[in-house]
Amino acid sequence: MATYEELMEKDEQYFAEAGRISYYSLLIDHADQATLVDIKGKEYIDLLSSASATNTGHSPKKVTDAIKNQADKMLHYTPAYMYHEPAIKLAEKLCEITPGDFEKKATFGLSGSDACDGVMKYARAYTGRSNIVTFQNAYHGSTYGALSMSALNNNMRAKMGPNVPNVEHIPFPDNYRGMYGKAQPNSIEEYLAPFKQMMETYLPSEEIACVVVETIQGDGGLLEPVPGYFKALYELCHEHGILFAVDDVQQGLGRTGTWCSTEHFNVEADLVVYGKSLASGMPLSAIVGRKEIMDSLEAPAHIFTTAANPVCCAASLATLDMIEEDNLLQESTRKGEIAQERMQKWENDYAFIGDVRGFGLSIGIDIVTDKKSKTKDSQTALKICNRLFEKGAVLIAIGESVLRFQPPLVITDQELKQALDLIEETMNEMAQGKLNDYDVSGQGW
Ligand code: PMP
Repeated sequence: MATYEELMEKDEQYFAEAGRISYYSLLIDHADQATLVDIKGKEYIDLLSSASATNTGHSPKKVTDAIKNQADKMLHYTPAYMYHEPAIKLAEKLCEITPGDFEKKATFGLSGSDACDGVMKYARAYTGRSNIVTFQNAYHGSTYGALSMSALNNNMRAKMGPNVPNVEHIPFPDNYRGMYGKAQPNSIEEYLAPFKQMMETYLPSEEIACVVVETIQGDGGLLEPVPGYFKALYELCHEHGILFAVDDVQQGLGRTGTWCSTEHFNVEADLVVYGKSLASGMPLSAIVGRKEIMDSLEAPAHIFTTAANPVCCAASLATLDMIEEDNLLQESTRKGEIAQERMQKWENDYAFIGDVRGFGLSIGIDIVTDKKSKTKDSQTALKICNRLFEKGAVLIAIGESVLRFQPPLVITDQELKQALDLIEETMNEMAQGKLNDYDVSGQGW
């Protein structure tokens, strides 16, 4: 077997740069539940599992058995020409678990990105309008449509223009820093103003097909909306015949303690996108939407050769079964509360923690230079992550300075405690100035 050094050298030679975000050089060999093992045999607790699409933990037996059984039966036939049971059953299941007392249909893709592109297509086709409105600081993916809807990082859009036209970005109603750096809202109206002004001045509502929302901005820094904003936006959209679509690729399927994150915000989306954990890491995404919207495109307007792959659909059915049978929605909420209770104490204890926020096991710890100015402190955040990595836990910073705490929902209570102990130990070291010399240059988004 090749050594660590040999493999890393080859990686540098052959693996293209744009597909990586550099943090630490963890060369992973295998993974089980919440544990990652590198090729030298060192173990790490995975606190980043939503990024690797594993709400149900790494290689859960129920899912790997389903994969093996289906792989032996049939690896694939393209859904464009053939029907098969796993895809049909999965479409039914996703329509059932997605909130909304109306008839729904589902379609499949391979990544969150292509499904977000699909939302653009369906929304334009159904409404006959061309404009899509999304949020500043959003991340919807890396294909041209999804990329055009994103507004997070210059490198993601540099050198590749032009982007898909008729996409507008409005400010996200950030409940911590507010809009335009303003501290707190006076009213929801004030937060709706940019959207209303846009409709009144340069983009009439009759030309807007859809608003696409991450209810909690994931890669942008686990930002929560001002309470009541999405309900108000949703009502405003419907008054104007604008569809309300939710990208639940990161926050969906148990991550926040519910099937769909809209359940926290009292809205029922017209279209919902699932991905990442949908099939425990196998490449699969889905759009679930109102039947009439999903019937607005005709074949073959949205097909991919390997979408709805039966092995991935079997993995997904087993994943959703596991979430139900092992009560992972409730577990996410319960473990999230345990973690947040401890973290709230840190927020009081450490000058560099500005905010702790989240639902279920999707928690952000916002690291700041000082609590008053709320200035992001990415250096401190990265130093904490690096030190933690040395101690055997994988955590990253997103949105420049936000520690992204998203362990698998199957993390045991003991592992959770161990992870929280390690973070606290590291925070103490940070507070005592012991991490001042850590070099974190070149890391992060
Ligand atoms: N939407 C959201 C909210 C995401 O977090 C991501 C991935 N980070 C995507 C879409 C893109 O998904 P994928 O990487 O599977 O294309």
